[in-house]
Amino acid sequence: MKKNLGFLGLSLALVALLSCGGSPKQSNVSAQQTAEVQPYPYFSGDSALMFAAVQVGFGPRVPNTPAHGACADWMIAKLSAYGAKISVQSFDAVGYDKTVYKARNIMASFAPENPDRILLMSHWDSRHIADHDPDESLQHLPIDGANDGASGVAILIELARLMHDKAPAIGVDILMLDVEDQGTPENVKNFSPNEETWCLGSQYWAKEAQKNGYKARYGILLDMVGSPTAEFPMEQYSVSYAPDVVEKLWAKAGELGVGQHFVYQKIGAITDDHYFINKIAGIPTVDIIHYSDANRKGFPDEWHTHADNMSALSAKTLRAVGMLLTAVVYQPLVW
Ligand SMILES: [Zn+2]
Repeated sequence: MKKNLGFLGLSLALVALLSCGGSPKQSNVSAQQTAEVQPYPYFSGDSALMFAAVQVGFGPRVPNTPAHGACADWMIAKLSAYGAKISVQSFDAVGYDKTVYKARNIMASFAPENPDRILLMSHWDSRHIADHDPDESLQHLPIDGANDGASGVAILIELARLMHDKAPAIGVDILMLDVEDQGTPENVKNFSPNEETWCLGSQYWAKEAQKNGYKARYGILLDMVGSPTAEFPMEQYSVSYAPDVVEKLWAKAGELGVGQHFVYQKIGAITDDHYFINKIAGIPTVDIIHYSDANRKGFPDEWHTHADNMSALSAKTLRAVGMLLTAVVYQPLVW
C-alpha cells in the first residue's frame, strides 16, 4: 500500500526522546564475524529467499483465489511443523468496492506458556492490481508481491525454523496478517485516499485483541524488507507510539553490522498494519519498511508494479533483517 501522510507534527517531547538516545552506533565488525560469535542460531538469507519463492510460486496471493488459499495452507503446515501453536482467525473483510474477502489471519506461537511475549508481523496477501505499473495495460493484473508481502513472511518463517531448533528467550507470536494490500486504487481520476480500506486484517485482529486482552511487550512489523538497496528509516507512527523500541532496534542493527539498512532518518507517517495495532490493540509497534527519498515514489521502485517479483529480492537483505529479529528473540531487548 500505503499513503505517506507527511509529518503530522511530532511533539517536541518525542523528538527529544529520540535525539537523546538516537546517535547512530557505528560498528566495524562485519556481519560474518558477528555471526560467528553470536550465541544463537544462524539466520539463513538463502533459506528465507526460498520461502519467498514458495509463496510467489503459488501465484498472486489475492484473497478469494486458489493461490491465496494454497499459501495459507502452506504457512499453517510449515509453522506447525516447526512446533508452533497455530491459531487461525477466519473472517469476512469488505473491500473498497464491496467485495467480500474470505480472509485468514494466522498466528504461530512459540513458548506459548511464557506470559512475557513479543509480536512479530507481516502481511501475507499480495495486491490485486498493479496500479503503479508504468504499463497502463497491465495495471489491472495482480502482482507477485515478492517484496511487498512475501519478503516479511519469508523472514518470519525462517525465524520459526530457528526457534524450532532452539527455543526463544521470550514468548514469540508470529502473526501473518491478511488483506493488507487491497485498498483503494490510486490510478483513477479523483482518487481519494481512504485509509480504512487498507490493513483490513490488522484492523480486525486488533479489535479482537483489544476485546480479548491480548498482551505483548511490543510489536515489530516487516513490510518490503527484501530489496538489495533497502533503507529503513524511522517512520513517524513507530516513533510516536514505540520510541523505545525504535531506539533499541536501530542501535542493535548497528551493533550487528547491518546499520547500513537501518538509517537514522525520521520520515512521515505511513498507514500500515502497525498503525492499527498501535491505535486499537495498544501494543507499541514499529514498522520496518523500505522508504527512501532517493526512490521515485518513496517506496521501492517496484512497489505495486509487476517488477515486484523474485528478481527484486536479495538474500543478503533478508539475512540483515533476519539477523536483527534473531537477536530480538534470543537476546530480548530490555529497558
Ligand atoms: Zn503494498
